[in-house]
Amino acid sequence: MPATNGMIRVTAIDAVMAGEIAAAFCAVRPPGHHATATRGMGFCVFNHVAVAARYLQARHGLGRIAIIDWDVHHGNGTEEIFIGNPNVLYVSLHEQNIYPHTGTASQRGRGPGLGMNLNIPLPGNSDGAVALAAWDAQVAPAIQAFEPEFLLISAGFDARIGDPIGGLRWSDETFAEMTRRCVEYAERWSQGRLVSVLEGGYHPQGLAAAAVAHVLALGQ
Ligand SMILES: [Zn+2]
Repeated sequence: MPATNGMIRVTAIDAVMAGEIAAAFCAVRPPGHHATATRGMGFCVFNHVAVAARYLQARHGLGRIAIIDWDVHHGNGTEEIFIGNPNVLYVSLHEQNIYPHTGTASQRGRGPGLGMNLNIPLPGNSDGAVALAAWDAQVAPAIQAFEPEFLLISAGFDARIGDPIGGLRWSDETFAEMTRRCVEYAERWSQGRLVSVLEGGYHPQGLAAAAVAHVLALGQ
């Protein structure tokens, strides 16, 4: 996020919007999705995808932005920032009953943003097949109804099998399949425009393998 002439630039967003690249993966640290508008939380200082969504709307004049968050933890910060916003669809797949203990399915949004918040809590120790079935049932129709103009991914890899913090058992292929679905959505509704931002992932080798599977699927 370099500053030029006193203005903040979000480089990956600008490059995709200019058509210089089709999609981007931002290997940022620390992660961002627990950070609220006013405070850091859970390793997160700034909420990168929230900044990107606001930037797309304010700088590039886009309307509907979809954020798909598959980090093993619920993105409470992202939810809080956009909870009343009808132009940002927030979708989170996460392990139920773990930190930060938010993300219940009953939280669907507020006021004009009602229906724009989709939480999909998944049982501990469940595998990628469970997540993909939930995706088919809930994520695909939500994206289809929303017709996003830009797709952002909060790409955590702590749902991967072997992660010391997450309790799910997703494989690298699970992340690749989710990525392919996102690319399809972007091609169908968003002129292919997609930016993915790294969130959690606490098993170094597992994080690397899953991130490679994700990036390869992004480029296909
Ligand atoms: Zn996480």
